[in-house]
Amino acid sequence: MISALLPNYARADLAFERGEGAWLWSTDGRRFLDFGAGIATSSLGHNHPHLVKAITEQAAKVMHVSNLYRIPQAERLAARLVEATFADSVFFCNSGAEANEGMVKMMRRAMAQTGKPERYRFICFEGAFHGRTLGMLAATGNAKYLEGFGPPVEGFDHVPFDNMNAVRAAIGPNTAGIILEPIQGEGGVRAPDARFLQDLRKTCDEFGLLLGLDEVQTGMGRTGKLFAYMWSGIEPDVISSAKGIGGGFPLGAVLAKEHIAKYLIPGTHGTTYGGNPLACAAGNAVLDVLLTEGFLDEVERMGRLLQTGLREIVGEYPGVVDEVRGQGLLIGLHCVAPVGEVQAAAIAEGLLTVTAGENTLRIIPPLIVRESECEQGLAMLRRACAQVAQSAKVAVP
Ligand SMILES: *Cc1c(COP(=O)(O)O)cnc(C)c1O
Repeated sequence: MISALLPNYARADLAFERGEGAWLWSTDGRRFLDFGAGIATSSLGHNHPHLVKAITEQAAKVMHVSNLYRIPQAERLAARLVEATFADSVFFCNSGAEANEGMVKMMRRAMAQTGKPERYRFICFEGAFHGRTLGMLAATGNAKYLEGFGPPVEGFDHVPFDNMNAVRAAIGPNTAGIILEPIQGEGGVRAPDARFLQDLRKTCDEFGLLLGLDEVQTGMGRTGKLFAYMWSGIEPDVISSAKGIGGGFPLGAVLAKEHIAKYLIPGTHGTTYGGNPLACAAGNAVLDVLLTEGFLDEVERMGRLLQTGLREIVGEYPGVVDEVRGQGLLIGLHCVAPVGEVQAAAIAEGLLTVTAGENTLRIIPPLIVRESECEQGLAMLRRACAQVAQSAKVAVP
């Protein structure tokens, strides 16, 4: 018989009853170092006093009122995001997929309202992940995720990642814009050449296209800047955000330039929960921490420390792991051995991670991770790799 809780996930047999910083305690009394952060979402770790206080205080005042009314917490969070980024205006919603849907609707509507309704198609990339709604399944384009769900939503063309020739060849009279993750997360922590975003910006300008970035995973400090586009020196027209933006409280956002945001007038788009007082209190609390002087520099420093340590492990166990990828605290460890074995060995050592495409282990600690915790995590991973190398030797007669 089917379980009461829909069995649509391959869950590890672990449940947690409390957390503190980068640590989680399971219901069976074990302690784990959480280098998965709920899939890059618990950006401030667990039980962060500032976030807990903001949520508790707001919950006791008013949680939800709907967007029929002004929401001061949302106005404040939007103003702060505008101040800190390229954007002129922000729409709040509840998840990454919903933020991407909003981004696509905004781009299509801007084209339609400026006399180009035939421009509704988007160039997307192989290995992308944009979410699980019907629209975002089509944008993701992964045949495995699309199977059995009917005809894919029209308007998404896929080309190889980091390939400008393929992008230019795919541009047609119906193209509205280009949508990509600055670093592909689920696809295997794949970072394109440093010039790729700059070339995409130039190409968009040349052909009158819009550039939309899915920063659901790369944003909100994950790479050591508030958003990953900031490494490239270019400005997109629109970005989506979610995951870390609420520190574990469900919140998503679309940040856009005025020239496209202005077409989402009343009645064109909306959400009931989106940007409610409680979610935005959480968002403001996360932003308080991220914008603290020196915080993002520390994210970058921890990222470098981890990446250096991981390269040493690659040198020691080349039969198990062979490449370190990513930026800041969005790190991929490409595995030679099956990634599931490396992940399981890490869990046995007390370290939680997340897998990604291309047989890659994702190492995405909370952004508040300390140097000593990075060192402990590296020691656990080193022992895990030794274990995998050892059992591979035993398996070969
Ligand atoms: C996780 C993710 C999404 C989907 O976010 P949900 O909140 O699960 O809808 C979209 N894009 C990227 C890049 C992601 O990492």
